[in-house]
Amino acid sequence: MIEQKKDNSVTDSAPVSEEKVTVSSSKDVVLRVEHLKKYFPIATDFFGRPTAYLRAVDDISFTLERGKTIGIVGESGCGKTTLGRTILKLYDITDGEIYFEGNNITGLSKSAMKKYRTDMQLIFQDPYSSLSPRMTVGNIIGEAVRQHNIVPKDEVHDYVLDIMKKCGLRPQFYDRYPHEFSGGQRQRICIARALAVKPKLVICDEPVSALDVSIQAQIINLLKELQTRMGLTYIFISHDLSVVKYITDRIMVMYLGNMMETGDTAGIFRNPLHPYTQALFSAVPVPDPDVKMKRIILEGDIPSPANPPSGCKFHTRCSKCMGVCAAKAPRYVEAEAGHFVACHLYDTEIMNRGDEYDLTPYTPPVESEEGEKTDE
Ligand code: SF4
Repeated sequence: MIEQKKDNSVTDSAPVSEEKVTVSSSKDVVLRVEHLKKYFPIATDFFGRPTAYLRAVDDISFTLERGKTIGIVGESGCGKTTLGRTILKLYDITDGEIYFEGNNITGLSKSAMKKYRTDMQLIFQDPYSSLSPRMTVGNIIGEAVRQHNIVPKDEVHDYVLDIMKKCGLRPQFYDRYPHEFSGGQRQRICIARALAVKPKLVICDEPVSALDVSIQAQIINLLKELQTRMGLTYIFISHDLSVVKYITDRIMVMYLGNMMETGDTAGIFRNPLHPYTQALFSAVPVPDPDVKMKRIILEGDIPSPANPPSGCKFHTRCSKCMGVCAAKAPRYVEAEAGHFVACHLYDTEIMNRGDEYDLTPYTPPVESEEGEKTDE
């Protein structure tokens, strides 16, 4: 079901929010995110009041069912990591709401969040820097187990050994230190540490991008196996679309803090609709020598989220840009069942009203080196 509503709930000094969408579901929903925004103040006036913001996450809504995996994809700087950390409330929320298992956790204080801390875990990209070099594997995994009383104190040792076994770590590793292990094994330690506190939701932030390709497959298979065995729900943040295709049920494509397209993984790979998604997916290698790849190269750099383009944020790089795109932000359209896209091309209310909207091709002005716009 889709609800669309207008909302200008950010304070007057913040940028005006655009049209928004909430996708809700009656199934067993672990996480519901509604119109989530995370703006970082980057300039203040004489009185210290923010006058400019970096819009890292700008109005994101989605739901995530138990046991499922949603993939968040996009170029570096699109806001996917900030989204993950904002959901975990590692950053203060600018606007919007987060529901975990039906409970609104948006306004909870740090101490009130404690009881949810074990339910929501994060697996970092870099297994080298996220493990304390002074702690043994057993202590790294067991630390939070003791702190949160996951099992009685006299059972912690055996419990940690059991988690290690599930994550493919031998019992003799218990007393060793992180520097004695390879990258793949360190990531297994990170996974074991996250899962030891029996989480319900795990945010995997580029969990395999720092690893060799041969090790990546092992870690991805381990995550899949543990998901089935322990009934885990994942948010999988990655720029590697081949990995995302393999592990996710749904995909959300982000650009400059906005959700551009979302739908089930098979549907989006079969028929990417948004011009940005089409460009991203054109780079995915096809394991068939007879298939000729048609790579779409995006022109220009990703614009600054501190000063995003007007209208459709992608219009400065879109080969299908029309006059209306620079002036009006697109709304979400359900182009296929469960497949939503934010692009005027799929909005019949726009495309059937050529008398009202400028549907002619439009080339945005190029920014000169001095930052001035020219019509070249
Ligand atoms: S709304 Fe316009 S600029 Fe944006 S993706 Fe669609 S065609 Fe391109």
